[in-house]
Amino acid sequence: MVDDEDLRRAAELLRAGRLVAFPTETVYGLGANALDAEAVGRIFAAKGRPATSPLIVHVDSVEMVRSLVTEWPASADALAAQFWPGPLTLVLPKTTLVPDRATAGLGTVGLRIPAHPVALALIREAGIPVAAPSANRFTELSPTTAAHVREALGDRVDLILDGGPCTVGIESTVLSLAGGVPRLLRPGMITQAQIESIIGPVALPAAFHGVHAAPGMHPQHYQPKTPLVLGTPRTKGRGAYLWWSESRPSASSVQMPSDPSAYAAALYETLHRLDVEGWDYIAVEPVPLSIEWTGIRDRLNRAARR
Ligand code: AMP
Ligand code: MG
Repeated sequence: MVDDEDLRRAAELLRAGRLVAFPTETVYGLGANALDAEAVGRIFAAKGRPATSPLIVHVDSVEMVRSLVTEWPASADALAAQFWPGPLTLVLPKTTLVPDRATAGLGTVGLRIPAHPVALALIREAGIPVAAPSANRFTELSPTTAAHVREALGDRVDLILDGGPCTVGIESTVLSLAGGVPRLLRPGMITQAQIESIIGPVALPAAFHGVHAAPGMHPQHYQPKTPLVLGTPRTKGRGAYLWWSESRPSASSVQMPSDPSAYAAALYETLHRLDVEGWDYIAVEPVPLSIEWTGIRDRLNRAARR
């Protein structure tokens, strides 16, 4: 676990332009000083991430946000009051303080206050906004433990803060408030209905236009190394079955929670474990169509091999 000395060292590294992996409530983040273009460049290099994918900037307060955006509409204020700290990223027009490299040249920046004591303490101690995508290699599974980060990035990262397993377990909901109708760019555990109850109608993402429009919407993302198939596979071989309902296809099925929050919290940890076990495929029972499952359904669809 993390003590004050770890936090001081981590904050010092961030201020010096180095990379620190840290826990958030969603997944582990690979952090760098969001105001330092060179530091931000190190994130892309460590992840093997295309420079066309914007990063989420983590802050500790709405005050910190205000120096980074040119607009802070009433809708943002209302959503922040309801959901921050928490797994909701708001996309707003950025100031020149945010380097173009952090936002892949976009005029907007994605921001959130994470609901994790270590993440908050780190940002506070460093005194700077922290750009942090998930701490994994590009297109691979997101990490929900410090061990996952170590396996994926090793010494590509200067320090890993171990805050135990992530409690939400999938990436944040991303909502654009940059012009026109608010638009949901990536579903997560904060649902469209929850957002609409605060600010009214929200548009769904335009049809997928490529990696550049919204990188989390890249069709191949969140993939385990083992081929993942939705439903019962026709192929032969040794398969692991991830089943949430009672009707299990095999005695050796992995029982997943039937509650969406518990399911999300367990999902990546389970996929990481099955990857290590070395199955021929991972078969996943399709999840319910109700709105609480939308974020999970999205990740499973992207994790599945086509
Ligand atoms: P990751 O950090 O790997 O979880 O992915 C970053 C996510 O943030 C992507 O899914 C994008 O949809 C979203 N994002 C961050 N900044 C922006 C932005 N300026 N415009 C649109 N989406 C953004
Ligand atoms: Mg990611």
